[in-house]
Amino acid sequence: MAKKLRVWIDRDQCIADQVCAALCPQVFEMADDGLSSIVAQYRKDPNNLAEGIVPIELKDCVAQAVDSCPVQIIHMEEIEE
Ligand code: SF4
Repeated sequence: MAKKLRVWIDRDQCIADQVCAALCPQVFEMADDGLSSIVAQYRKDPNNLAEGIVPIELKDCVAQAVDSCPVQIIHMEEIEE
């Protein structure tokens, strides 16, 4: 069991200012619908743009996005997987 990070975005409330994608492009990108999404590499379900499982090494990067999102809709929790 290794520690990982579950990351999810309340996409319906995203204001598309691209802050998360600028701060942490390893995890966040702007999708075709203009809203933030988890990069394909880390999506648990390829069709669910809103949620991913990310290596724990990227925690600082994700935390920056969590703290900087102006509408506070990015969430993360540590999990064992
Ligand atoms: S920082 Fe927040 S509001 Fe801005 S694009 Fe990312 S999820 Fe959307």
